This record gives sequence, structure tokens and C-alpha cells, in this order.
Amino acid sequence: MTHSYFIPRKRFGQHFLHDPNVIRHIVDVIAPAKNQHIVEIGPGLGALTKHVLPIVQCLEAIELDRDVIPELQTACKDLGKLTIHQADALRFDFAQLTKKKADLRLIGNLPYNISTPLIFHLIKYAALIKDMHFMLQKEVVERMAAEPGDDAYGRLSIMVQYYCQVHYLFTVKPGAFKPPPKVDSAIVALLPYGELPYKAHDEILFADIVREAFNHRRKVLRNSLRPFIDNDLWPKLSVSPEQRAEELSVQDYVNITNTLRA
Ligand code: SAH
Repeated sequence: MTHSYFIPRKRFGQHFLHDPNVIRHIVDVIAPAKNQHIVEIGPGLGALTKHVLPIVQCLEAIELDRDVIPELQTACKDLGKLTIHQADALRFDFAQLTKKKADLRLIGNLPYNISTPLIFHLIKYAALIKDMHFMLQKEVVERMAAEPGDDAYGRLSIMVQYYCQVHYLFTVKPGAFKPPPKVDSAIVALLPYGELPYKAHDEILFADIVREAFNHRRKVLRNSLRPFIDNDLWPKLSVSPEQRAEELSVQDYVNITNTLRA
């Protein structure tokens, strides 16, 4: 496959997969099956699409760059029914695609320049999603999978792990892409929980507390969470006011939220 007649665009984060072994490995871990509701984000010229579409026979794709779409359509004609939504995935309403719970399987070699905001956008639809398999910068996957005490642990880890099980699947080197990105990449599987293991009664407050705590990562919680937690409330909580944001688990943040709302 050559892309000589299409110049990848930096502003769309275009790094097209071209290593056939890596592509096969990704398709293997996605394990598509006929009639599943698969939605690909950023199909580009179809490196993954061409392999998944013939299996599922019917695929939806969300692509922002209208200039890749004719070539994508050509690459996929005769392989199945491809529905392309020319749209910004960051603003796309995934609820328009299904009414069923745990229905959508999201896949994609994502544009790295928008990966964190995109993940925050997607977790809003966690209830409708069966699973997600994405290629991202390795560092972002490490942040999603990190546990309390890890350097990479932060707001992204907590917000993703609140909704999903996170599995770091494998690392992909820059040479698998054209043009090669400057960073290593990794494939991650995100599996939304059917029933949340720790449920915040007020998810907006939960998100606000997590954000505030990590805005002041180095401060002790007594100081960073002062806007939320009065001094006399600390004895009721299972964590100490001398701890820092990065030491608390998802469960700890949920407990704080639910104590404040009790
Ligand atoms: N999946 C392809 C392309 C990956 S590059 C492959 O592996 O070869 C990332 C793709 O995401 C590009 O096609 C780019 O045009 C698209 N893209 C960039 N920003 C986007 C956005 N906001 N919404 C949807 N697609 C976007």
C-alpha cells in the first residue's frame, strides 16, 4: 500500500499504520465478529478498516478530514457497508448511534493531539459501550493504566478507571507508521463496567474533587480540598488530610464524594 498521492497532515494527527504484522496483531486483539456494532474513530485511508469491515460487514466510521474520505471509500468498496460520519469525534454524539446498553465497540488508531480530551468525551458514553481498543501514545496508555503511587497516576487514571477496566495490551514502535511519530505507541483495551464497582452518587462532584486534588498534586489534601472539605469533616473520612492526591484510589475519591453528599 502506498500513500504517495496523499500527504499526511500534521494538524489532523495523521500517522498511518503500514506495518502488516502490527495491523494483524491489532485486528486479532479486537477480534471483530459478524454483526457487531463497531465504530472506528479516525479511519484515515483505511489501514484497519480494510481488515475489520469484511468480517463485520457493516461498519461506522467517524473521520474529520474530508480529503481522506474518497480514498477510504475506494479502499473499502466491495468489502461491506461502510457508513462514514464526516465529523469531529470530540463533538460527536455517540448516543445517536445506539439505544442499547453495552452495544458499541469503538476502535481506532487515534489522533494523538486530541487523545486525552477524546477519552474524557468517550467515557460519558460508557454505558452504551461494550469495549474500546485504541492506539495511543504509550505515555497516555500508561497514565490510563496507572495505580496510586505510580508516577503516571493522575486525573486521567481515576476518571477512566471509574468507568472502565484498563488493559495495556502491547507497545508499537514508531516505524509501524507513516510518517513515524516521535513517541512510542501502545494498544489499550478499555472495558466499561456493567455495574460500577464504586459508584459516586454525584458524579459531577466526584469529577470536581478529582480535578481539584490533582490541580494541586503536591499539596496535602487538607489544603488542596479546602474548597470542598471543612476541617471538622476529616475525621469522618477514611483518608488522612495529610495525604496527597496521588496516594488515593478511585474508591477513596468515591468515598469522599459520597460522605460529602450524605
Ligand atoms: N486509522 C488510520 C489513521 C490514523 S491517523 C491508520 O491507522 O492508518 C488519525 C486519523 O484520525 C486521521 O485519519 C485523522 O484525519 C483523523 N482525525 C483527526 N482528528 C480527528 C477528529 N477530531 N475526529 C475524527 N477523526 C479525526
